[in-house]
Amino acid sequence: MNVLVINCGSSSLKYQLLEMTTETLLAKGLVERIGISGSVLNHQKIGAADKIVIETPMDDHKDAIAQVIAAITNETYGVVTSMDEIGAVGHRVVHAGEKYSDSEVINADVLAALEECVELAPLHNPPNLLGISACTQLMPATPQVAVFDTAFHQTMPAESYIYAIPYEYYENYGVRRYGFHGTSHKYVAERAADMLGKPIDELKIITCHLGNGASVSAIRNGKCIDTSMGFTPLEGLVMGTRSGDLDPAIISFIADKLDIKADDVIGILNKKSGVLGISGVSSDFRDLESAAADGNERALLALSVFAHRVRFYIGAYMAELNGVDALVFTAGLGENGPDMRKAICENMNNLGIEFDSVRNNIRGKETIISAESSKVKVLLIPTNEELMIARDTYRLTK
Ligand code: AMP
Repeated sequence: MNVLVINCGSSSLKYQLLEMTTETLLAKGLVERIGISGSVLNHQKIGAADKIVIETPMDDHKDAIAQVIAAITNETYGVVTSMDEIGAVGHRVVHAGEKYSDSEVINADVLAALEECVELAPLHNPPNLLGISACTQLMPATPQVAVFDTAFHQTMPAESYIYAIPYEYYENYGVRRYGFHGTSHKYVAERAADMLGKPIDELKIITCHLGNGASVSAIRNGKCIDTSMGFTPLEGLVMGTRSGDLDPAIISFIADKLDIKADDVIGILNKKSGVLGISGVSSDFRDLESAAADGNERALLALSVFAHRVRFYIGAYMAELNGVDALVFTAGLGENGPDMRKAICENMNNLGIEFDSVRNNIRGKETIISAESSKVKVLLIPTNEELMIARDTYRLTK
């Protein structure tokens, strides 16, 4: 059975088509500039030499998905002969609030629940819903599944998700920690158990998803017990452009100083902060590492602050878990940044982490990077959220 995985942003859409009895990727691609001039689809048939670039106006997500279907069924660069060969569609959906702790086959109830969550994720849930609606119109007979970023974190105990503010804000408005990147944390935790050859329900794992957005999760026996992102993806680690944790009093202080609204300060904390804000150089860690190598002190400081916050959370979660068996690095920087992994992990030998700089000198490959004798195993695991979405979609619809 073939599963089409769709990840809709406000003006972009990523897709993959996978054959699920063998978990084989058949095609993948990216649509950009949906609804603005210069819409373009980049399509790749796996195994083909050339990527296909289709430049055509796409006014909305329905146009974009129609182009995706045309590409994957194209006689020359397609991978299936007709839409009927797509058995199900899996959608990445960012926020399901407290409603779902697993992926769900989409029906009217699920759609209503996701509409309710729009106020919790105003930037992310609306494009996700547009993608679902476009598929419903274009392929009405094909089952669709929603896979939620928040679902994996629903096992957190109240002591992890309740903020110390008046309790009625949680009861009346749903203000609590939700956590994000759940599909990625779950995928790499499961892979870590496989790589260590142990059942996941006997392991304590800390997963570090370090990309442009970044979060850490504490996982006991396969269940998430804490995570660094909160009510929104702004909390927790320092990120590419997001501040992560800070004293909330800073918000009104800066609003007063700049004579702007609190909401504008939140915009600054989301888009102009993080390692970009500290360094003034870039949100991209490659740029920061090269600027730091050239002696840029603020780039160096941004990298140190980032590493400090990751260590801070690892320490906190080691305390929560009463020790840890595996520490996992994933996502753009986690997979490809040996210098950052080293900055995070060295000098933690009293906590059972024996780092091996030679083993660590590797990018983007599933491997153990701690020393053979290390009590805590440190693993590099490329994330694969699309495969996870396809697996859940297959499980729920086959
Ligand atoms: P993601 O959001 O998971 O796609 O991660 C994107 C981030 O990963 C980029 O902003 C880069 O900062 C970082 N990254 C990707 N490749 C490298 C690399 N080779 N070295 C250091 N950082 C990298």
